[in-house]
Amino acid sequence: MQPSRRGPGAPVTVRRAHPPRGENWEHGRVDLATFQACMVETYGERDRARGTAATVAWLAEELGELARAVRKGTRDEQRHELGDVLAWLASLAAQLDLSLADAAQRYAHGCPRCRARPCACP
Ligand SMILES: [Zn+2]
Repeated sequence: MQPSRRGPGAPVTVRRAHPPRGENWEHGRVDLATFQACMVETYGERDRARGTAATVAWLAEELGELARAVRKGTRDEQRHELGDVLAWLASLAAQLDLSLADAAQRYAHGCPRCRARPCACP
């Protein structure tokens, strides 16, 4: 007898550090925390090995590509570059041990200066 062998039909639970792609991904409604966790799962080890300086350089390069796409790209190209910028931003946040979702909280109550929505700053 092999007690460690699972019987047929027994659920195999794969514990992941972070939630995998779910229905929210399929409907384009992923939250920032899930997105960041998935970026860490996908690229985290490699990105950490590169370090924050290299990640900032890649983020800046992707921002340049986004700027170009905004000026003369198609909507598909603009969406593509937005995704790349977001991915590098998530990687940078993770390497800094910061949460993108926490960072977004700065704007949870509208403008951080005047606290109004829309901003009422002069
Ligand atoms: Zn304001």
